[in-house]
Amino acid sequence: MPRFRQILDTMAPYTPGKAVAAPDGRSYKLSSNESPYDPLPSVVEAIAEGARNIHRYPDAGAVKLTEAVAERFGVPEAHVALGAGSVTVAQQLFETVSEPGAEVVYAWRSFEAYPLLADLAGVTSVRVPLAGEDHDLDAMAEVITDRTRMVFVCNPNNPTGTAIRRAALESFLDRVPETVLVVLDEAYREYVRDEDVPDGLTLYRDRPNVVVLRTFSKAYGLAGLRVGYMIAQEPVATAVRKTIIPFAVNSLAQVAAIASLAAEDELLDRVERVVKERTRVRETLIGQGWTVPHSEANFVWLRLGERTLDFAAECAKDGVAVRPFQPEGVRVSIGSPEANDAFLAAAARFRA
Ligand SMILES: *Cc1c(COP(=O)(O)O)cnc(C)c1O
Repeated sequence: MPRFRQILDTMAPYTPGKAVAAPDGRSYKLSSNESPYDPLPSVVEAIAEGARNIHRYPDAGAVKLTEAVAERFGVPEAHVALGAGSVTVAQQLFETVSEPGAEVVYAWRSFEAYPLLADLAGVTSVRVPLAGEDHDLDAMAEVITDRTRMVFVCNPNNPTGTAIRRAALESFLDRVPETVLVVLDEAYREYVRDEDVPDGLTLYRDRPNVVVLRTFSKAYGLAGLRVGYMIAQEPVATAVRKTIIPFAVNSLAQVAAIASLAAEDELLDRVERVVKERTRVRETLIGQGWTVPHSEANFVWLRLGERTLDFAAECAKDGVAVRPFQPEGVRVSIGSPEANDAFLAAAARFRA
């Protein structure tokens, strides 16, 4: 029997969101925060065109996509690093800091990939409980020691949807030593409407330890292709680029991401529709008597405690798949109006 790393026996595997179907065949997947829209024709066309070249390796440096991202955000190309989904960029960030004894700090509950990536990297997780549904930034600053190599700040937070405002985030960043990377995970940035929630790109320029992590998976609707990126000052971006597995970002992902940036207005119109649905869903839930934290992302959070799995089962009867985190609560993605109505009907039944 080969000897495997001990951590493989104890780490929690990533649980992907599942689809369920009602007896009548209806099925609404509100468990993975995906875009409810089909890909844009222009993006499908770029992928079809790109398919003619898949016997070739992709551009290892993803030069055109790097240029497109840099141009879109008005940053130097040297500040951009790409990966196969932002989860992989996060894994690459671990590769840049992981040493025996290293610690990573993050809020809990937050994005499920953080503990997994920390375990895989052999880094010790220091989890700081949320204060209510929000990051407890004071407590996070307090647990930073000379073993801390990285801090994740998920803004808005997955799964609670709450966002950190500028003054709080800036005073936290002021307290973190420059030797510690702070990763602002902004996977849901495009859904933020609170003007007080800072765009990480306005924070990293004079902070050499701040990383802004973004993805094409959510607002840009490319979850199936796996492409994400980070923006940070040159030493950080250079270090992260060194950790990429050769050719990690495949050629179809590269052309689709470029086409998505070119069609950004259309995609952001769709985001706006999701944001309107988010308001409708939250207000309807509040009308039903639920407590729903204000969400700046494309999902809402219901703190159901021990009733979490019962609630998910009730939704499944209507073909609505939600994401239960027993015994904390349920995260429900904002989908099409029809899917949201199906979810709201199940939620009303559960309260009755
Ligand atoms: C969905 C999500 C990501 C994006 O993952 P990809 O690998 O880019 O698909 C990153 N961070 C958070 C918090 C997320 O919810």
